[in-house]
Amino acid sequence: MAFTLELTPAHHELVRRAHTFAEEVIRPAAPKYDELQECPWDIVDAAAREGFYNALFYADLIADPTGLSLPLFLEEIFWGCAGIGLTVVLPALALSALNQAGTPEQIATWAPEMFGTPGDIKLAALAVSEPQGGSDVSNLQTRAVKDGDDWVLNGTKIWIGNGGIADVTVVNAVVDPDLGTKGQAMFLVPKGTPGMDQVRRLDKLGHRASHTAELSFTDCRIPGDQLLGSEDKLNHKLDKARRGDSTRSAALGAFEQTRPMVAAMALGVARAAFEYACDYASRREAFGGPIIENQGVAFPLADLAADIDAARLLAWRASWMAANGVPFHCGEGSMSKLKASEVAVRAAEQAIQTCGGWGYVSDLPVEKWYRDAKLYTIFEGTSEIQRMVIGRTLATEASQTPQHHLLPGDHGGLSRKFGHGSLARARAGEAFLKLAQKAPHRLLELGGRLASPGR
Ligand SMILES: Cc1cc2nc3c(=O)[nH]c(=O)nc-3n(C[C@H](O)[C@H](O)[C@H](O)COP(=O)(O)OP(=O)(O)OC[C@H]3O[C@@H](n4cnc5c(N)ncnc54)[C@H](O)[C@@H]3O)c2cc1C
Repeated sequence: MAFTLELTPAHHELVRRAHTFAEEVIRPAAPKYDELQECPWDIVDAAAREGFYNALFYADLIADPTGLSLPLFLEEIFWGCAGIGLTVVLPALALSALNQAGTPEQIATWAPEMFGTPGDIKLAALAVSEPQGGSDVSNLQTRAVKDGDDWVLNGTKIWIGNGGIADVTVVNAVVDPDLGTKGQAMFLVPKGTPGMDQVRRLDKLGHRASHTAELSFTDCRIPGDQLLGSEDKLNHKLDKARRGDSTRSAALGAFEQTRPMVAAMALGVARAAFEYACDYASRREAFGGPIIENQGVAFPLADLAADIDAARLLAWRASWMAANGVPFHCGEGSMSKLKASEVAVRAAEQAIQTCGGWGYVSDLPVEKWYRDAKLYTIFEGTSEIQRMVIGRTLATEASQTPQHHLLPGDHGGLSRKFGHGSLARARAGEAFLKLAQKAPHRLLELGGRLASPGR
């Protein structure tokens, strides 16, 4: 379907419900979990009761052909608190890996295990990054070796959201070290599997309500059917890679599609900080008037207003492209994540500056937004990696062409010939105006009206 900015009544209702939940349930709990650095089980349970925490809910949002449901939802939830928001959506990241690589039986079996039900909440984790490098996914060291009917995993994973407390962990591991990213596969490892251990919980700058840990796998044995996808499919993929088939890795393409979602999360934090700063600047007085009356205060906020909106439009466009299978010729997913994460950091920093000394202490929430915002320039691909992805497309002809030139547009011959801006309309307009000039006054008036629509 065509890209549209017109929200449906269902979109408006989703925004209303998500915002109310963020304002009434998430925000009041945010300072506590930020301080305790504990998983907010009660809030996840409340999200599940509200219908915001189950596999079908996310499948439904992803299926929206406008592409807008998911970013609209995420922006509101992360506006509430980024750490709590991340805990609520982390299983959806694991679910997306399951959906992309799993067999229908695996999806039916494991998707419910990733979320649980109200009163019996479950968590999921996606474990890719390793201590020796997160950006360079071709350098993963965790090995998976087939032993009889089982797979045996050995290695270390770090910075894993919900790591060690997840009921299901999707683990990326190397099955053929000679094939780089194409020699990797994903495995489902349920909680309590001998050999998978939480080494330590990580003490973080921000997103402190989200549990993050280092995991180790030592002779961790899992049954063959916990390889994501079938073994035949894996062998076929490996054979293709050995033959030098250079098709782009599916995992990398998938990252481009999830990046607008991370952009929407960052926009939630950016908007929270921006709104707070505008409100504070309208109320705070200095030198006899509200500080927002000074251009030195208002102009940086005006720049943020424009930049947040621009980043949101990029995120919505990329999300619509993902939903409609439009190819990401110019790294449009990366563009949205890059812009949204960098504007989030700037918005939070400007919010501190606007609040002065009050912004620097934890009496106000802005210092927390500053700590939270920074993560977006690091995880799901650092800003440098986003620039690399965009940079790699620059030598291609497609990337030098604006995206809207590449879209198929309207196939209707009539619109092409007689639509707005067509040569036929231009000629007809000229002819009409010429005629009207020679005509009586009332016809001339009509000509004037036609020539200035919108007056
Ligand atoms: C709070 C948090 C939660 C996370 N959650 C998860 C999770 O749930 N699952 C998961 O698998 N991972 C997770 N991560 C890992 C995250 O994705 C990685 O930290 C990230 O990919 C960066 O990897 P790195 O930390 O190893 O940095 P490195 O790859 O070591 O990079 C260090 C610096 O070098 C730059 N750099 C590297 N290569 C280049 C290059 N070619 N050109 C220019 N600059 C370059 C990077 O941009 C960065 O600035 C999480 C991280 C954090 C902090």
